[in-house]
Formats: sequence, structure tokens, C-alpha cells
Amino acid sequence: MKTIKIAIQKSGRLNEKSVELLKNCGLNFENYKSSLISKVTNFPLEILFLRDDDIPEYVQDGIADLGIVGENVIAETKVSTHTLQKLGFGKCTLKIAVKKDELISDIAELENKTIATSYPIILQDYLDKNNIKANIRTISGSVEIGPGLGLSDAICDIVSTGATLKSNGLVPFADVLSSEAVLITKNTNESSHLIEELLQRIQSVLRAKNTKYVVLNTHQGNLEKIVDLLPGVKSPTIVPLHEPGWLAVHSVIQESDFWPKINSLRKAGAEGIVVMPIEKIIL
Ligand code: ATP
Ligand code: MG
Repeated sequence: MKTIKIAIQKSGRLNEKSVELLKNCGLNFENYKSSLISKVTNFPLEILFLRDDDIPEYVQDGIADLGIVGENVIAETKVSTHTLQKLGFGKCTLKIAVKKDELISDIAELENKTIATSYPIILQDYLDKNNIKANIRTISGSVEIGPGLGLSDAICDIVSTGATLKSNGLVPFADVLSSEAVLITKNTNESSHLIEELLQRIQSVLRAKNTKYVVLNTHQGNLEKIVDLLPGVKSPTIVPLHEPGWLAVHSVIQESDFWPKINSLRKAGAEGIVVMPIEKIIL
């Protein structure tokens, strides 16, 4: 039987979430220890544990059928792959930052300046689009110390919370690229049913991730108001209670709507509200 391969990061910021996503898809496998390949025991899939920089190329060349990697890495390697699905984790932004006292507020002021980065390709694209000529100094890590050491006037680096920039006396002033982890495949029109099936499982986990299952009781007279507040996947399920005139309403709500909705539901006459996690939503 044919087996497909998925490449994920061996260790680092995307590893844990990538493994968690695959486990939530019902896949059983040993997590990376010393072997670089792990066989999934209940699906024809092998997991390759790699440095994230190598993932786009492995997928482009067909060594792996799928990969999970940051959009920033794909943009920097300039390979041609197809993004099947954004995965909602590993979110970060590539930003240009300068020393706090530099007082640069417009990107045009970067003309002829030196910018240190580990992302020379993305930065060059950005500068070209903005008609700026600057010197790019490529360094592989600890970019934030550049300006303090007089190595560069500015930096272009990944920021998620901004804490590292701040502790190095830097302030971000321009966003170059927003990134998150994505599921990629080879750039081709062929698709395999195993890829399709895995994609469907991943999408059902992602759909469920931001939603809750809500069950509440209410008197018949309040039903219309309550149903207006609860859309459900299709529409809410209404079940009669043993007590005459009373109903149980079952529905699915977005996690982000949670507290405002719960408060409105109580005001509308909902009682005994139970909220439960959802594992998967298959449409
Ligand atoms: P590898 O050893 O696999 O090459 P790495 O050191 O290049 O790992 P990590 O630091 O583990 O990479 O980051 C992996 C990805 O996580 C980044 O490419 C980016 O997409 C994402 N990411 C999210 N937040 C951050 C952050 N604060 N700093 C760096 N990367 C981040
Ligand atoms: Mg890397």
C-alpha cells in the first residue's frame, strides 16, 4: 500500500504544535527521539523530523508529500510549493526595528543605511517594492545586538511579543511580512486521496479548535430570542425536556463569542448552561 510522508520541524518553535495537530487527527506515532523518521501505526503516513529550513525544498522535490513550516521560511527559500492550509499557530511578524533614540519613522529614511537580518531575500524584496536602496548585512542569528554593536543601523527580524527587541533597546517601525505555520504540498495538479484525507482531518480539527458545544435549558417562551443568539453549525438542536413547556437547546459557538454570548443568553432566559470542548467538526 502507498505511504505518504509529511515533514515537520525536529525541534523548535513549531515542533510541539505540529505534533499536537497530527495527534489530534487521530494519528498514532512515536514522537521524535533519535530516529528522524516515525511511522504512523494507524494511517499510511511517515513523519520526517527536519530542520525547518529544509522543509520547503523537501516538499518541492517530492521527497516529502506534505510539510508544516512557517510562511517566512518558504518566502526566504524562494522554492515553489503550494499552500493547502493555514494552521493558526507559529504566528509572528518580520519587522524592521531601529534603536530607540534613532527617530526613524519613515521607511524612506532607511536609504543607504545598513540593515542586519537573517532574511536577506524577503528584505530585499521589501526594499525593492518600496524603492529603497540599503545595504543588507546577512547574519544567521542574534540579529538584535547589531545596532548596539555598531554593526548595523537597523535590523529586520521576527517578532512575536516584542520582548527581545525591547530588551535590546530597539523599537519596531515597519512590518515586512506576517507569517504563520502552513501545510504545504508540491506545486502540481495531481492530488492523492491520502493527502486529501489527511487535509480533511486537519481541517476538521482546526474548525473545532475555535468552537464550543453549548447545551442550555429554557422555557418555550424564550426560544426565539435564544435561537437568534445561537447559530449552530446548521441551526440549533431543540429537544423537549420532561417538564412541560421546557426545552434543551444544543448549539456550537465560536470561542471568541463565548463570554458576550453567554451573558446575553442568560439575560434571554437560558438556565443550566453547559459548555463543552469539541474535538472535530466534519462538514
Ligand atoms: P531549526 O532548527 O528547525 O532551523 P529555527 O531556529 O530556524 O529552527 P525556530 O526559532 O524554532 O526556528 O522557529 C521556527 C518558526 O517559528 C519560525 O520560522 C517562525 O515561522 C515561527 N516563529 C513564531 N514565533 C517566533 C519568534 N518569536 N521567533 C522566531 N520564530 C518564530
Ligand atoms: Mg531554521
